[in-house]
Amino acid sequence: MNDTFDGTTSSNFIRAIIDADLESAKHTQVITRFPPEPNGHLHIGHAKSICLNFGIAQDYVNATCHLRFDDTNPGKEKSEYINAIKEDIRWLGFEWGDNLHHTSDYFDQLYAYAIQLIKKGKAYVDSLSADDIRLYRGNLTEPGKNSPFRGRSVEENLELLDKMKSGEFAEGEHLLRAKIDMAAANINLRDPAIYRIKHISHPMTGDKWHIYPMYDFAHCVSDAIEGITHSLCTLEFENHRPLYDWFLNELKTSAHPQQIEFSRLNLDYTVMSKRKLHELVEGGYVSGWDDPRLPTLSGMRRRGYTANAIRDFCSRIGVTKKENMIEMSVLENSLREDLDANAPRALAVLDPIKLLITNYPEDKEEILQGVNHPKKPEAATRDIPFSKELYIERSDYMDDAPKKFFRLTVGREVRLRFAYYVTCTHVVKNDTGDVIEVHCSYDPETRGGKSEDGRKVKGTIHWVSAKHAVSAQIRQYDRLFSVPVPAAEKAKDYKDLINKDSLQVLENCQLESSLLDANTSAYQFERQGYFCQDSVDSTQDALVFNRIVTLRDSWAKKSK
Ligand code: ATP
Ligand code: MG
Repeated sequence: MNDTFDGTTSSNFIRAIIDADLESAKHTQVITRFPPEPNGHLHIGHAKSICLNFGIAQDYVNATCHLRFDDTNPGKEKSEYINAIKEDIRWLGFEWGDNLHHTSDYFDQLYAYAIQLIKKGKAYVDSLSADDIRLYRGNLTEPGKNSPFRGRSVEENLELLDKMKSGEFAEGEHLLRAKIDMAAANINLRDPAIYRIKHISHPMTGDKWHIYPMYDFAHCVSDAIEGITHSLCTLEFENHRPLYDWFLNELKTSAHPQQIEFSRLNLDYTVMSKRKLHELVEGGYVSGWDDPRLPTLSGMRRRGYTANAIRDFCSRIGVTKKENMIEMSVLENSLREDLDANAPRALAVLDPIKLLITNYPEDKEEILQGVNHPKKPEAATRDIPFSKELYIERSDYMDDAPKKFFRLTVGREVRLRFAYYVTCTHVVKNDTGDVIEVHCSYDPETRGGKSEDGRKVKGTIHWVSAKHAVSAQIRQYDRLFSVPVPAAEKAKDYKDLINKDSLQVLENCQLESSLLDANTSAYQFERQGYFCQDSVDSTQDALVFNRIVTLRDSWAKKSK
């Protein structure tokens, strides 16, 4: 683990429970698990759960965290997702070692447990239609009523379950249910389903099964089989906990994990439900699961987010039971902090205009030194070529500029970063009056951007040598949605609330030539923001850079 990370060591109420359990010797070893369903890619919400579960395993002596694929829904699940999930967890900096499991590893045991429940008179095969089951369930104010099939004998139930398993019935014809209490105030206890018929082959077990276990049954039993001590899940499972405990009590499993709920991460200006992410990807609203605007870990990685920043963010938001909506700026601040500390600096002109140094010799070239990182002296300097023709940012010149404009206007002197002082003498305009070339004279006594006579200039602008610059496409990303909580805008489809400016493509940006050797790690383009080469589309002949994040939070300004 990277030593700049102190995230997982911050305490929370779950760690307090674990501390007490170790103190009282209820447990001598802590085992947690992260149980993704392989039906999509992981997102930043999952990162919260990963940092919590794997973080505990890292910090406690002898503790482990299992990675368990919760693969009970064949049809929606794909091995493509399994591999992507593993890659994302490893990228975040966590490792499961030998503790890789699948709920499907336990299908035989789960089935044996279901038979045990039937034999105890605690489960039965129901043959009501799905509609009738719904009707019989009652609602929040009315109790449910017993199914006419609830009184089937143990023998009949066993025989029916066996036939369900071997595929003798159609989907929906029968259902194995727990026999608990149709009048329970907690609707989850009104004879919940244990197995449903599904004639779908499974990536791991093939065509062996025609029934698949329901989450509430499979999850607690899998936790118990693995000897999980603390089963951490999000708050919507709070009123499933009585059922979690009911199954384990009835089955007298050797371990009885403690389910503890915490609030899920919600982030503004994005969506995180897998259903919505699927819609955005499949509907072509984004370029794929790794679209850099998505909150998926693959998208964020491609965008240039660092694992360090995400772990730091997860540590800052903490783990509580309070529902919350975290501002994107909190995430971006973690990112900026990490990038500021680690990203080398470079010069890049995003909206280029020519600057001609009229008194600089025609064929002269020199190599100047650029500081790679202001806070890392060991990172030293790099060579930056300088010549008569440069590119500067179009916005760094202005006609009739006000006094406070510390950049170029005719008669004003500025510093070219790491280079010389130049004074604007003249501009060339095209027919429509747009400036196409800025002419300056330079002071040869100011090499390195320092003046011998102590003369000060207020402004420093960045530049690249036109002859040496490399051209690149730059993709500027912004928030994917134009409103903070797209899913809450009842009157509108969230897909109509996509921020039209969330992707802005700039062509022919001019970068300093050292960036030709850039790998995918991040750079600060001075005065612009943080950028990295796009890991998918960038090639040596056609460079593509992503803007990871701006230097400052421009949204905070806008909303003020
Ligand atoms: P969805 O409800 O969008 O389908 P999910 O929660 O069902 O997502 P899983 O693959 O089942 O997705 O999630 C694996 C683990 O990640 C679960 O333990 C779940 O509680 C946790 N998790 C998912 N989303 C969040 C979130 N936003 N914040 C914290 N934990 C989360
Ligand atoms: Mg789930």
